[in-house]
Order: sequence, then structure tokens, then C-alpha cells
Amino acid sequence: MAIRKSSKLVRIVAVVASLVLAACSSFPSQMIKAPDKFGEFVQAENSFLIDIYDLSPTDLGEGESLRVVATTNIVADVVANIGGDAIELTTLIPLGADPHTYEPTPGDYQVMVNAHVIFLNGVGLEEFMYQTLKQVAVDVPIVSLSEGIELGLFGGGEKSDHQEGGGSDEREDHDQGEGEPYYQTQAGVDPHVWFDAYNVIVWAENAAHAMSALDPANADLYETNAHEYVEKLKELDAWIQVQVARVAPEDRMLVTDHLAFGYFVHRYGLEMVGAVIPAYSMAAQPSAQEIAKLVDTIRELGAKAIFVGTTANPRLAERVAEDTGVELVPLYIGSLSEPDGPAGTYLALMQYDVNEIVQALLK
Ligand SMILES: [Zn+2]
Repeated sequence: MAIRKSSKLVRIVAVVASLVLAACSSFPSQMIKAPDKFGEFVQAENSFLIDIYDLSPTDLGEGESLRVVATTNIVADVVANIGGDAIELTTLIPLGADPHTYEPTPGDYQVMVNAHVIFLNGVGLEEFMYQTLKQVAVDVPIVSLSEGIELGLFGGGEKSDHQEGGGSDEREDHDQGEGEPYYQTQAGVDPHVWFDAYNVIVWAENAAHAMSALDPANADLYETNAHEYVEKLKELDAWIQVQVARVAPEDRMLVTDHLAFGYFVHRYGLEMVGAVIPAYSMAAQPSAQEIAKLVDTIRELGAKAIFVGTTANPRLAERVAEDTGVELVPLYIGSLSEPDGPAGTYLALMQYDVNEIVQALLK
């Protein structure tokens, strides 16, 4: 099932919050109400997103570059391919940090309020944005690169109903004690859109349109760069199809640390049979019954591996792997590697992950 996301303009207008920033030594822990249905979820994000087609040229001084902020380092890599040397790009979420549970620093606020545009993955991936924007007035256009992508539910609806049962009391107690965000994206849709290379084509085009609107003097450059990058994304997509086709259809099963591969299995013809955390976010906690069910599923279906992100705490996945005797295979999911590592760019990340997945499933 797919839902087309509509983006609505609600501009957040207020004063720059540098005084607030100076007064805050750590990230404020005030909570906002978690949207618990798809409609409310979309509404929550639309309260701060601006539609790309509502952007207008920014006043850039002599020799001044467009200051662009990207939330995740995957978003930043795609934006860097489009903006090249014409933009001044800052990434908020460092390499190796989990985008679902990231907590921004006071320095991040400063970067955000000084930007000309902020690009998000959107779809609720960056849970910190909801809280940040409750605390800090950011009079800067905030753009979801996922605007226009066909969003997937991939069975998340049932998971969220299930979690309102036995497991939820424990989580609420925990949250109240620790002051952790309780905004859960599994109530909405899967935010891991980048695991379908065609969705990243939408990102590239959105980034080019947005930066061209803000900085028309460099529009030709942005459009040319986007065109070249889109060709690479199409090659990546075709390569993934070929690689996955090497695996026998009955072995094309994924068990992962959380529900991060919905778009991947949907596009490339695999099946997501289970997850250690059966939610779209790493911020969720699985119940004992959910873990037991996963162990049963892995045994029944003969799944060969559990794929875990490098930003995840592997403890639970290790337990399931020990109980079932299957292999743990690390992947890059929410963050790139160091630039000279195996997944230093989005294209390299996808190649690395697909190679690891195919090798594990061929065993
Ligand atoms: Zn994730």
C-alpha cells in the first residue's frame, strides 16, 4: 500500500533564538504530543515543512554562497552531488550516529538559524526536528527531499496496534523517567526511502529545484549536476536488480534490526520476514513476545542472517543470532561510513549493503 504525501506550507515565523541558545547548556527535553495516526503524523511534519515550489530567491551578497544544512549524512551526500562547490554545506548528524535517536547540540541550532535552507529526509526520520522546532524559532525554509515520493506502510500499521498492548506501559514508564522522545514513526510510514534508488532520483531533482529557486544564478549548474547524478542512480538501480536476481527466489528473505528495508524489498523483489525491533524507528523497544516470535520465524523460514545497522546497539540482535544460530551481518543503514571506508557515499553504501546481503543469502 502506498500513500502520496501532500506537502503544505506553514511557515514558522519568529525571532532568532540565539539568546535561548546561549541559556541552554543541554538539549531541552520538553515533549510534544506524538501523532498516533497517519493523518496526524503528516500534519505534524507539515507544520514546519515548506513546499519546494513556494521557495523564492535568497538575497546573496557578493561572493556569498548558498548556506545549506542537511540533517543526515546520506541526505548531505546527495545534496553535495547537486550543489558542488556552489554551496556551503553543513551536515547535522555525524557519521555513525543514528538518525532516529540523534539529539542536536546548541551548535546545531546556530547552524540551522544561520542557513538559507534546511534539507531533511523527512517522513519522520529526524525525530529531533519536532522537538527542536518546538524550542527554537527557525525562520529558514525547511524542505523534505522526499516530497512527492510514494510512501509505504509495509505492514507498520499492525505493529503499531500491537505495541499499544503489553509493551507500551513499560515504554511509557521508561520515557517518563529518562525524558526520551516518545514520538514513534511506526505509527506513520516507513521513512527509509533511500533504499529504493528511484526515490533518491526524486531527492536529487527536489534538491536541484529547491537550490535553483533559492539561488537562480547557479540554477544551470544544479540542474546539470542533478542530471549527471540521476544517471548514476539509474545505473545503481539496474545493478541492484542484477545482483538480487542471483539469489534463488525462496532465499530472498530479510531479517533486520528494525523495519528499515521496506522500500528495498518492495522495489527489488525480496521479502522482509522479521525485525529485532518491529518498528520503523530504532527508538522503539521490542517486547519479550516479539523477540520470541522472531526466533520462531527465523527457525521456521530458515532465514540465513540478521542484518544490523552500524548505528544500532547490537545486543538484542546478538541474542537472537545466538538463539537461532544464524549469522549477524553488519550493514550501513542510517549513516555513511568515514569517507575512506566502505560506504563513504550513498552510492557506495548501497553497493556495500547489496553485496553483503547477496553474499549472505547465497550461502
Ligand atoms: Zn531506521
